[in-house]
Amino acid sequence: MSLLVIGTAALDSVRTPFGEREEVLGGSAVYFAVAASFFTPVRLVAAIGEDFPEAHLHLLAGRGIDLSGLRRLPGRTFRWRGEYGYDLNEAHTLDTQLNVLERFDAELTDAEAATPYVFLANIDPVLQQRVRRRVRGTRMLAADTMNFWIERQRPDLLAVLRDLDLLIINDAEARMLANQPSLPRAARDILRLGPRALIVKRGEYGVALFGEGGPFAAPALPLEEVADPTGAGDSFAGGLMGHLAACGRHDAATLRQAVIYGSVMASFNVEDFSLSRLLRLTRAEVDERFRHLTALMHFDPIEPARG
Ligand code: AMP
Repeated sequence: MSLLVIGTAALDSVRTPFGEREEVLGGSAVYFAVAASFFTPVRLVAAIGEDFPEAHLHLLAGRGIDLSGLRRLPGRTFRWRGEYGYDLNEAHTLDTQLNVLERFDAELTDAEAATPYVFLANIDPVLQQRVRRRVRGTRMLAADTMNFWIERQRPDLLAVLRDLDLLIINDAEARMLANQPSLPRAARDILRLGPRALIVKRGEYGVALFGEGGPFAAPALPLEEVADPTGAGDSFAGGLMGHLAACGRHDAATLRQAVIYGSVMASFNVEDFSLSRLLRLTRAEVDERFRHLTALMHFDPIEPARG
């Protein structure tokens, strides 16, 4: 197993201008694992409660995701409730119930700690830090976070950033983390905090890569219909890390391809609620959209003027 994700498994309640769903499958590690499973086998480490439906476990196992790292703890599963207005780039959190997360210790087994590609998905930075200290021989350690943790646990988060290979956050989070309205300046300041590379997700406006492998920018696919942006960031990270782990390298060229695969996975994920779109997606569709995005980014260099 070359890729491991640790984060949340959740029951999400989401409202967007295009519909709503109650207590559906979600969570940062779940979106990541499903997206990554199109590229490479992935091990999912997360806490679930006694109420986590067996049907969800079957869906995940059906994608070949290794669930041996799921810890079923007494109590209720983590729950998140959020809504989006017509600006789908911004989620408004209405309620976060940590539940079993309050007792999750994120202790990895020796085999889990020896995984070459590790993603610390959005979860309490104290747990991210514990995993960061425990992993051995990791080729690439990447992480995500969100405003919830930046506001509440900044010192713990800063400790996670030291020594990180890659941080993947959205533009509002980058500005909040760096206390800086200019994105390029925020990126420069965040790189000084430790990460060797930084990816800033900008929703429908695409992504920017700073530091190692950068600067590089990719647009998002122009989608006419977006149903639910929840999990876009995690699917992006899953596609990106899945491609790196499948290739077994993360040089600048592979990292740029991975950014495109990440964008492709995010673009599919937002087409339906919860994991619905990713669960009926095929690898052929993924590769077709990769080519589509490549074509979208292509332009010819200007011929040198003659005479
Ligand atoms: P994204 O839209 O990619 O940023 O992630 C959405 C997922 O993150 C949802 O499925 C939520 O269950 C999960 N989530 C929401 N709040 C938190 C939090 N504070 N910590 C960890 N995961 C969260």
